[in-house]
Amino acid sequence: MTRDGPDAASTLPDCPVCGRPIATVTLTGPTDGVVSPCGCRIVPVALE
Ligand SMILES: [Zn+2]
Repeated sequence: MTRDGPDAASTLPDCPVCGRPIATVTLTGPTDGVVSPCGCRIVPVALE
């Protein structure tokens, strides 16, 4: 099995900026997103 398979929805990723768990990512543009609850701006990973 691979670690980065698509069945990782149950494991929340960590914010790449501050390292806190990501609850939700609000997209603000095609290449911009805001992480909740920490509020950092990130480039969202393409969601298939
Ligand atoms: Zn953050």
